[in-house]
Amino acid sequence: MSFAELGLAPEILRAIDELGYSTPTPIQAAAIPKVLSSRDLLAAAQTGTGKTAAFMLPILERLKKFASNSASPAMHPVRALILSPTRELADQIAVNVKAYTKYLPLRHTVVFGGVNMDPQTQELRRGVEIVVATPGRLLDHVGQKTIQLNKVDILVLDEADRMLDMGFINDIRKILGMLPKERQTLLFSATFAPEIKKLAEDFMRNPEMIEV
Ligand code: AMP
Repeated sequence: MSFAELGLAPEILRAIDELGYSTPTPIQAAAIPKVLSSRDLLAAAQTGTGKTAAFMLPILERLKKFASNSASPAMHPVRALILSPTRELADQIAVNVKAYTKYLPLRHTVVFGGVNMDPQTQELRRGVEIVVATPGRLLDHVGQKTIQLNKVDILVLDEADRMLDMGFINDIRKILGMLPKERQTLLFSATFAPEIKKLAEDFMRNPEMIEV
């Protein structure tokens, strides 16, 4: 199985080839077709397995129809939201998104707490299709109306178990309640505690499950 056989666009294949990815990891081979099919997905995955590309590459494939060089912020609404427990993980995901979008005009930014909001606000105001965020700071931006979530097609809850361990459950439920009902939800977690299962029952539609 190759990345090309998984149905990714030449712009994406070129970017990952330059990163030296030659063969999909098991979670990528399992997840990419399911994400491309627009189904909700519950995936058991540890870090280091290639899970970031497992969700990000098919998301880029799904968003490539929105790629645009337009200068108008209105042409770049938020289409994909990736929630992550920590600044470090959010930053790491953003570094990957930057590399994967090298040949696709899709914009991204990352927002996390503990730093001044203003530079994040300026980035958001430019318009970005992909936002990587920690839950608390995302809600701060929602409160300040510096981000709108009404066009979000795809939500990723990355390391959901860690987000719950860190006490983000109420923030996550609040954010989920703000998103369009018609969307794709992808949940990645190392473990499936009852709280995660409950979250999936409440906010996901007939999810596919993968465990690798
Ligand atoms: P992750 O589990 O997403 O944190 O990824 C772990 C590391 O594996 C990162 O440095 C990725 O850049 C790298 N990686 C992801 N997918 C592949 C692949 N198919 N081939 C080689 N390296 C990969």
